[in-house]
Amino acid sequence: MVEQITTSSPVYNFSAGPGVLFADVLQKVQSEMLNWNNNGYSVLELSHRMPEFSSMLMGVKQNLRKLLSIPCTHDVLFLQGGATQMFSTIPMNFSTQRDTVDYIVNGYWSRYAAKEANKYSPVNIVGYANDSASCPDQSELRLSPGAAYVHYCSNETIDGCEFDYVPETHGVPLICDMSSNFLSRPIDVKRYGMIYAGSHKNVGPAGLVIAIVRMDMLGKCRSFTPTMMNLTEISLNMSMLNTPPVFPMYFCGLTVQKLLDMGGLREMEKINMLKAKMVYDVINQSNGFYSVRVLGKNRSIMNIPFGLHNEEIQNKFLMEAKKAGLLGLEGHPKVGKCRASLYNAMPVEGVKRLVEFMAQFQIDNTPLKLCLAEARDTA
Ligand code: PMP
Repeated sequence: MVEQITTSSPVYNFSAGPGVLFADVLQKVQSEMLNWNNNGYSVLELSHRMPEFSSMLMGVKQNLRKLLSIPCTHDVLFLQGGATQMFSTIPMNFSTQRDTVDYIVNGYWSRYAAKEANKYSPVNIVGYANDSASCPDQSELRLSPGAAYVHYCSNETIDGCEFDYVPETHGVPLICDMSSNFLSRPIDVKRYGMIYAGSHKNVGPAGLVIAIVRMDMLGKCRSFTPTMMNLTEISLNMSMLNTPPVFPMYFCGLTVQKLLDMGGLREMEKINMLKAKMVYDVINQSNGFYSVRVLGKNRSIMNIPFGLHNEEIQNKFLMEAKKAGLLGLEGHPKVGKCRASLYNAMPVEGVKRLVEFMAQFQIDNTPLKLCLAEARDTA
């Protein structure tokens, strides 16, 4: 949310996505909207057939490679259809009808991915976090011998459950849905067969999926796979099998440049840890006024779902937060409650405003006799 542009009093957007974008990136987009790169036309008018597009895309890829230290064994693909389409694309490209495919389930999206994959290959759930309040430990993963791949979701956006380790799969290709924590911290890309992420959280507007795929995984696509879901064809055609989403690709380039300018992903991780700690601290110190289900080691630094003790007070919280310019704090419709998403572009100042609001809301909504009891206990 652009505090400088949209309103005189700052507004902060805590939506899970599409969500907050860097204010200065949005301003650059605005300045280039009518005349991109001094070419005399808008970036929205840029054709993927123009050489200017090819060089722009090349630059985006090179910068992504630099930011994530992507080794030359891996290709960077730009796809459409959202991360949800990847749930079907993956088994069609990387397994046969007879292969077992392993899925680690620690929340809504990984469960959904497993359900889709089961239409194409027998799925073995190798690790299951029953209540989505934690991720299974490595010792709990019962990997299938000879599985075609192991799939997991490194950060469950709805449940707020984030892996604190990279699963060891002993040579079986590891595939990760990183939609909601992509670019939030460094990644050791060579450990993965494929990483994929929708763009509309840490990258830019909706409409793009970035996939980083180890090239020796390609070439095994099933014959019935729609061409637009055939990753080998997409790789061979430089992500331009059809008209690509030019604008989100351009936006992605600006975001990646911004992250490089900010010092890269180590730096982002430090800032993200700090922002998440600010919110978890206010929750932990609230004597149960606010609560989080996820266990400490798996508490997400990107998406923090939290509850208040009843629905009435929760609705009041959301309404007053909105009035205070703190937007998008509603939980996912499937689970309700509240959720604060702290993507890269959320400034520390926005999180400061949120935690101040939460602390004040608690004071204003704690009955006097409880306050007195608490004061007595701490005296
Ligand atoms: N995976 C994760 C972790 C998500 O958060 C989401 C929702 N944005 C999806 C998959 C589905 O993404 P899309 O809506 O782009 O299909």
